[in-house]
Amino acid sequence: TRQFFVGGNFKMNPATREAKRALVEVLNQAPLDPNTEVVIAPPSLYLIPILDLLRKDVKVAAQNCHSKTSGAFTGEVSPAQLVDAGIPYVILGHSERRTLFGETSAIVAEKTRAALDAGLRVILCAGETLAEREAGRTQQVVEEQLQAVVGRLSPEDWSRIVIAYEPVWAIGTGKVATAGQAQEVHAATRKYLTSAVSPAVAESTRVIYGGSVTASNCKELSIQPDVDGFLVGGASLETRIRGHRECKG
Ligand code: 13P
Repeated sequence: TRQFFVGGNFKMNPATREAKRALVEVLNQAPLDPNTEVVIAPPSLYLIPILDLLRKDVKVAAQNCHSKTSGAFTGEVSPAQLVDAGIPYVILGHSERRTLFGETSAIVAEKTRAALDAGLRVILCAGETLAEREAGRTQQVVEEQLQAVVGRLSPEDWSRIVIAYEPVWAIGTGKVATAGQAQEVHAATRKYLTSAVSPAVAESTRVIYGGSVTASNCKELSIQPDVDGFLVGGASLETRIRGHRECKG
C-alpha cells in the first residue's frame, strides 16, 4: 500500500521571516496523521532555518535544484548542497519552472537524474494546460513530460520518486479538478507506468494531485483509488493546517 503524501509548496512565500516562523509554529502544533507523509517546500533561503525549527516528523523539500554538483552557476543550488544541508526532497518540473523559467522536459530529466544520484527524493510534477485538455491531449502531454524522466531511471530509483499531477489550469485558479478528472489521469498515469516501467513500480509509486486543493475539497479527491495525496500551494500558507489531517481519506 502507498503511504498517503501531503506536500505544501510555499512557492515564493511568505514575504517575511516573521510569517515563516508563524507557519512553522502552527505546523509544529498541528495534530498530524502519523500514517501520512508530510513535506513542506519553503523558499531555499528558509530551508535550513526551517529544518532547525520544524518538528522532526515533517520533512522539508527544496522547490528546485541545478543538475550540477558545484561550479559557476550564479543563483543556483545543487543537489549535493541540499543533501549536505540535510534536505531529503526536491520538487522538480513544476509548471511554473517549465513555463516561467524555460525548463524543458529534458532539463527536468537531467535534474531528476542528478538529484537521485546525490541521494535526494524527487517530487516530479507534470500536467496539461487548459488548451491541451480541451484538445483532448491531457494524457499525451502528461506522458510526454514523464517519458523524458522515465528513460533516465532504473527500477530501484522509483522508490524515491513521487509523481505530482498538476493540471496547469487548476494551479492558483481556484478551479480544482473534479475527483473524476483527477482519478482518470492518475489511473491512466499508473497504467502508463505499468507498461513504461513495470507493474510493481506502477503499483508502489505515489501519484499525488496538485491544483487549488483546499481543506474543503481534499476529502473527495483523497478517496479516489489512484489519488495518493496532494501537493498544496496557496492553502499550505494558511495558518491553520487542519486540512492536512482531514485530507486523509
Ligand atoms: P495551488 O494549490 O495554489 O493551486 O498550487 C498548486 C501547486 O502548484 C502546488 O505545487
